[in-house]
Amino acid sequence: MCFLQYAKYAHMNIFDKVGGPKYISEDTIKRKIGELKEPKLVTFMSDAEREQAKLALVNSKKGDGAVAVDGNLKSIYAIDTRKVFEIINQVSPSMCLAKWYNVSLHIPTGKTHSCYHPPAHHIPLAEIALDSGAIHNTKHKKEQRKKMLNGVRPEECSFCWDIEDSGEELSDRAYRSKDVFRPGILQELAKDGHSGNPLPRYVEVNFNQACNFKCAYCSPHLSTEWQKEAEKHGPYLLPSGGKHNDLQWMIDSNMVPDNGPNNPYLKAFWDWFPSVYPTLQTFRMTGGEPLMDKNTFKVFDYVLEKPINPNLHLSITSNCCPPGDQWNKFLTSLSALEDANAIDHFMLYCSLDSWGKQAEYIRNGLDFEVMYDNVTKFLRQGKKHSLTFIVTFNALSIPGWLEYVKNILKLRQEFNTNRQLIWFDVPMLMDPNWLSLKILPKENLKVLEESIAFMREHLESKETPFKGFKDYEVDKVQRLYDWANQPVYDDELSSARADFHAFFKEHDSRRGTNFETTFPELSELTTLAEEAYNILRK
Ligand code: SF4
Repeated sequence: MCFLQYAKYAHMNIFDKVGGPKYISEDTIKRKIGELKEPKLVTFMSDAEREQAKLALVNSKKGDGAVAVDGNLKSIYAIDTRKVFEIINQVSPSMCLAKWYNVSLHIPTGKTHSCYHPPAHHIPLAEIALDSGAIHNTKHKKEQRKKMLNGVRPEECSFCWDIEDSGEELSDRAYRSKDVFRPGILQELAKDGHSGNPLPRYVEVNFNQACNFKCAYCSPHLSTEWQKEAEKHGPYLLPSGGKHNDLQWMIDSNMVPDNGPNNPYLKAFWDWFPSVYPTLQTFRMTGGEPLMDKNTFKVFDYVLEKPINPNLHLSITSNCCPPGDQWNKFLTSLSALEDANAIDHFMLYCSLDSWGKQAEYIRNGLDFEVMYDNVTKFLRQGKKHSLTFIVTFNALSIPGWLEYVKNILKLRQEFNTNRQLIWFDVPMLMDPNWLSLKILPKENLKVLEESIAFMREHLESKETPFKGFKDYEVDKVQRLYDWANQPVYDDELSSARADFHAFFKEHDSRRGTNFETTFPELSELTTLAEEAYNILRK
């Protein structure tokens, strides 16, 4: 979408209407960034600085605390995110630090992106042959950085532009930038410009496709179980004309995973890792299921043998239900890392989209009781650890959501001590569209309203530090609700509902499950989806 369509930026004379954007010289931009006054985030303030700023610390200041502002409790995270958003907007209105200092790598398919919103792009082998660091600093990414420094919105970041244009002030551009912001980072940006090779502070890696789950919205290139099913039964045929999880798509789009030890991207990663490790803030391993891959344990061993970055935040995104003895093996590695003071913190991201039997249906392969036992064992045993429930928020998350929120509160009351151990995040599922919140009858969204009311009733206060919900957590659920309520074209809605019906009919037949008895609360959707299917098939 053309940047000039946004009246609020019309004063920025960076476009030639005939020839497109006119880029300013890199040196000029670097000078401008170098002259900006970096804000002091509350997270990095000394006691004296906070006192001077009239911010009374209510609890821990390590990014999870709160301060009293005019008598009201405000989370440090929310205050700091706003400060970072202001300064990056002084660089340009399309600036995002994640494009420089945040990276997700997909080793089996040789792809990368700055965060999980832009589509991952291919890493050219010729680029990593010259410099293994090109697994992060690809030519493609440098072009997007150039656009950002010049106030041009990269199209691939449409997720953030859509949110900002819908009236929401803070998109992930603010949150992701805040996450990598550290004192001195603007000076570093002034040196890196768009053509340099920045060292990422946040690295996320998927080493392997291996996974013992086949979640409804996942794909064969991210799950060996999904690949096996697709090889046996073929794709799910959808009435809109689409084919869900067609192995031919994997071949045509160069997405066939290479899980072998000779994968050139794996070699490039291990060549590059020692150069970024000393300054890394966060290293996160995803999958597939990372506890099924030996590179995860190789990273644990590497950090244990070279404990030169005691500020490191290490993490995995796990289904928390891996096969065999992998969970105990993981807990043993974690204890060794903590005992050696090799890390500052370990975050376990637990992927869980609902509660109980409904969660098991969405994430096929999950044994809810085993997962819950594993999670509580982790919470009891760790010393420098926390847990974040990641809810890939989809239509099937809705019926169990209030129970989920109540259980988060229960866990917080049981395990949070003088710090925050239990977190959650609610990224909305966009793809496939037939599983998005937008296919639901509006009546079903009342659960979100109820959960917001419940969270407001149980906000963290001065008297209950770490035992309630945070202001920005309520905002996130509110954002989800607002997004789900946005209008959808009738034909798109009918088509998505018809696909929903076809997928779950086939799902139940292939996997021996029963949608209707598992989700009785969604009976209206079930009826509407079947009607849409019958109309489309006529
Ligand atoms: S602008 Fe948004 S989508 Fe783009 S890199 Fe930043 S957070 Fe990700």
